[in-house]
Amino acid sequence: MPPTPPRFRAHPGPVAATPETRWFAFRGNDLLVRINPDAPDACEVPIAADASALPVPPVRTQPLGWLGAAPCYAAELASDAPLPEGHAYLSLRRLYGHVDAAVFEAAGTAFQIQYWDRTHQFCSVCASPLALSAGERSKKCPGCAHQFFPKVTPATIVLVEDGPRILMTRAPHFPQGMYGLVAGFVESGESLEACVAREVAEETGLAISDITYFGSQPWPFPHQLMVGFVARYAGGEIVVDKGELEEAAWFHKDSLPNLPPPLSIARQLVESWRSRATRD
Ligand SMILES: [Zn+2]
Repeated sequence: MPPTPPRFRAHPGPVAATPETRWFAFRGNDLLVRINPDAPDACEVPIAADASALPVPPVRTQPLGWLGAAPCYAAELASDAPLPEGHAYLSLRRLYGHVDAAVFEAAGTAFQIQYWDRTHQFCSVCASPLALSAGERSKKCPGCAHQFFPKVTPATIVLVEDGPRILMTRAPHFPQGMYGLVAGFVESGESLEACVAREVAEETGLAISDITYFGSQPWPFPHQLMVGFVARYAGGEIVVDKGELEEAAWFHKDSLPNLPPPLSIARQLVESWRSRATRD
């Protein structure tokens, strides 16, 4: 049996670097990886005892946690950082499938931590430079004591089913032929379920019932938490919100369009429904 891949555990630190430290270093949205010349489909993040030994020196770093026993750091590279030989810069979407699930999880977390670090250098109340808190993932203002935590933005996504068909939507920026599910950001003061019903009504004009939790997924583009639901169609005719969508339509389980990529909770919602619908 192949060995079990190590698990990722996030930790705000302190995390002592060792020669086995993994560095999740981002240039903009893209992660620096080493390409294995013997297996070009597999790649790994740089391993080094400290940031100065990386092939590209980072602008700033943050403790990230552990991958198995190996310490991990998140790092931000300059926007014009060069591409070292034998390396590549990969977006998280392109990284998927080229590393195991724990490394992908660590990379998604690292992206959000370094994004937060980069965009929270100064207090938004009094403009003082912020200081990292000890023992938790936050920054505190030495001037006014305001505290800043990494931002997580909740959004809902819902599979609306009606017997053997589901509601799918197309946004203008989707790849050609691909349809997704109704999704949208939670507003201040709104419950997740109210958000689901509002987004379906706004985007497609339909009413739904039986809103049931499915699962959730961190979506580091840049800091969403996607909360997935299934719901039943309860009435109405489709009226597409052309400000947001190109199209919304019902699709039968035997003639689904191109689906979102396997890493997405949208795809997991559709596959879970399809296997249920095929069984019934
Ligand atoms: Zn302040």
